[in-house]
Amino acid sequence: MKNVWGGSVRMSFFDKVKQGATDAAKKAQQTVEITKLKTQISSKEKEIEKHYNLIGEAVYAARLAGNAAQSEAEVADLCEGITSIKEEIVQIEQKINEARNEKECVCGKVVLADTKFCSVCGHKFYEA
Ligand SMILES: [Zn+2]
Repeated sequence: MKNVWGGSVRMSFFDKVKQGATDAAKKAQQTVEITKLKTQISSKEKEIEKHYNLIGEAVYAARLAGNAAQSEAEVADLCEGITSIKEEIVQIEQKINEARNEKECVCGKVVLADTKFCSVCGHKFYEA
């Protein structure tokens, strides 16, 4: 005699296996995505370092020439460049949080994406 319960238990077992495989695939894809974004951040950080070097060179060259003010415009440009690269890094960090299904509160606490209130500062998140 066939047991209806046995059949349904078996079904749910296979469903669980299938669900597990889907979760694993999702997790792997998420890891790839996060690694890619972290690589982007590293290259942005290298760009910033390059900007700092150029600032140093510009200031040094101006000093050598006996006119420190000569480097001012170039240094201002490079500083602006650094600021915009830093903004790009913040955006990439946000993408990493999204990939992890997390978001960052204004207080710096990282919470799950569907959180409505921050448990640390009480900040209310707007519905996306
Ligand atoms: Zn908070």
